[in-house]
Amino acid sequence: MYDVIIVGKGPAGMSAALYTVRSNLRTLIIGKNGGSLSKADKIDNYFGFAETISGKELLYDGEMQVKRLGAEILEDEVISIEKEDFFKVLTSTDMYLCKAVLLATGQQHKVIRIENLVKFEGRGVSYCSTCDGFFYNNLKVGVLGHRDYAIHEALELTAFTTDITIYTNGNQLDISDRYVNESGRFRVDARKISKLDGNEFLERIHFADGTSDNVDGLFVAYESASSIDFARKLGIITDGNTVVTDSNQRTNLDGVFAAGDCSSKFRQISVAVGQGAVAGKAISEYVKGL
Ligand SMILES: Cc1cc2nc3c(=O)[nH]c(=O)nc-3n(C[C@H](O)[C@H](O)[C@H](O)COP(=O)(O)OP(=O)(O)OC[C@H]3O[C@@H](n4cnc5c(N)ncnc54)[C@H](O)[C@@H]3O)c2cc1C
Repeated sequence: MYDVIIVGKGPAGMSAALYTVRSNLRTLIIGKNGGSLSKADKIDNYFGFAETISGKELLYDGEMQVKRLGAEILEDEVISIEKEDFFKVLTSTDMYLCKAVLLATGQQHKVIRIENLVKFEGRGVSYCSTCDGFFYNNLKVGVLGHRDYAIHEALELTAFTTDITIYTNGNQLDISDRYVNESGRFRVDARKISKLDGNEFLERIHFADGTSDNVDGLFVAYESASSIDFARKLGIITDGNTVVTDSNQRTNLDGVFAAGDCSSKFRQISVAVGQGAVAGKAISEYVKGL
């Protein structure tokens, strides 16, 4: 059991870890490569560097620093976070338990260009199987995605219906060993989607090849799960693409904190590092108070 699991190994997550490890919390950072900072070529507005530094260099040094201080860093993708007595964090390869969670996955970059996707949000299009699966009892549903996250969502939906198709929208399935067998339980449809259609509610998916499928619901689980996806499932308040926190980076759910681009509208390294520090301190106080 970890005291805290930090989801995301960017400046927000690693800055938080500096504070949690130094107050003796058993800290695990789980992160994929490829956050915003790794794309920043030249950084000139972050304090303390006489010469320009690249995002990759800053990340590398940050990672070495938190490791030296005692945080564990695991390169993996978090698929789901569930609240039981403690928090259960599910990755592409394993499952971990912890007392507190920090959401620090950066900005959600997913842009899905499908006509009418937004129009049917809440009226057939859902972003949360845990929240809305119940409404599709024994109905025909699709899951939009092609990675572990999509398979995980489809598995959650099996509690409500067996008629589930994974729509990859022209992508090849890209699934880790853990989910390969599970993916065989579902129909996989690789046709490119052109638009969604219906009257008041979603009724049909149209494909670029001119064909169409009737569906009652479409669950969007595109690419990787982000802090916004985790927040929605946990019942945490969000505002557009931002997880809502108080001034101590606490969300409305006890034990869950958020920091960095996922919880800020001013998306900068200094802000991410500052919010990470505030979150790290608040998490230490929270865990010690349990
Ligand atoms: C091209 C570019 C240039 C920029 N230049 C500057 C600049 O000059 N100065 C400046 O101050 N800011 C700059 N920024 C903004 C800055 O990079 C961000 O504000 C900062 O990196 C935010 O830190 P973060 O930790 O919140 O998120 P990120 O740095 O995005 O880190 C998030 C981490 O979470 C991981 N992750 C995401 N989903 C999952 C999941 N499901 N499971 C596990 N891990 C996950 C990501 O892979 C990544 O490791 C730039 C951004 C870009 C894109």
